[in-house]
Amino acid sequence: MKGKVMADNNFEKHVFKKDRYSKARGGNSCFLNIFCSSCKSHVALYQKDGPGALIRMYLDRIFAPSNLADLQYKGGSKKNLPNLQCKNCHALIGNPMVYELENRLAFRLVPGAFIKKNSDGMYPPLKS
Ligand SMILES: [Zn+2]
Repeated sequence: MKGKVMADNNFEKHVFKKDRYSKARGGNSCFLNIFCSSCKSHVALYQKDGPGALIRMYLDRIFAPSNLADLQYKGGSKKNLPNLQCKNCHALIGNPMVYELENRLAFRLVPGAFIKKNSDGMYPPLKS
């Protein structure tokens, strides 16, 4: 499958998406693991393009888990996109939005509701 290579056993090592969106942000990307700040559960593996604070998460940059990563292919609109919630404690992490400049679906993140840590693109994340 495009965009990932299999690593050993049940781990998947993801590779960066490179497209007009990443180019528009200078071509520098990094993987982030997003965790719930309430219960520390893993929320998502995310590719951030370019510098700056993490304000929103674009659907097309969510690599895992699959139920979130698949949202980008469902062709939905903001209206039928669910809130981004912690699957463990159900804390609200983000609200659906459209980034109008690029017409991209995203989650507007709730400040303080998440913790981000650098990732090497491996999923599931190794325990730290
Ligand atoms: Zn939680």
